[in-house]
Amino acid sequence: MSDATSTTPACPPVTSPDLTTFARVDALGLRVDAQQIWPDKAILFCSLVTVDDRCPRCGAGGRVHDQVLRRFTHLPVGRRPTWLSVRVPRFRCDGCGRVWRHSLKTVARPRSKLTRAADWWALCQVVLDHTPISGVAAVLGISWDTAHMAVTDVGTQLLIDHPGRLDGVEVVGVDEHAVRHEALLFRMEVRDLHRPAVVAVG
Ligand SMILES: [Zn+2]
Repeated sequence: MSDATSTTPACPPVTSPDLTTFARVDALGLRVDAQQIWPDKAILFCSLVTVDDRCPRCGAGGRVHDQVLRRFTHLPVGRRPTWLSVRVPRFRCDGCGRVWRHSLKTVARPRSKLTRAADWWALCQVVLDHTPISGVAAVLGISWDTAHMAVTDVGTQLLIDHPGRLDGVEVVGVDEHAVRHEALLFRMEVRDLHRPAVVAVG
């Protein structure tokens, strides 16, 4: 019997196969147009679902000037990386002549090589599953520095700077472990012992 407090999710409908939703790129505002399966990775060629052609300077309509390809690292399938190759239109304003590229803020953080979904996956791997940065980097097919920057930036934004991160914390523990043996780099975590939550890192 279900009640108002039940957390059991509703049974989702059975649908036709759809790579856009299966790869979770619909949440990024993208759709999958094609795929390329390599032995060691998969590439999904994507386009934007909705495009805003209004000029950011004067508000007039723009025409497609050309297109550029942006590559992002997305959620892995098993231990195999998935890349997104996103076709991004550039517009030229009919009014003032300005040329601009469509914003990808729904896809990734500014200047990030990881999608927002991959950011979250990497953070969960480190915080919840205690995977070292090197392990996250290996599965995603990215450098240690790129993985470390993503986990640090998103962790700071979502965990460290969250105003309610200490709510309900009663007992904390301190753990220190090596995150990069060759560089003798260690990380200290202060954890809520009653929940899988990191209170602080250093
Ligand atoms: Zn304009």
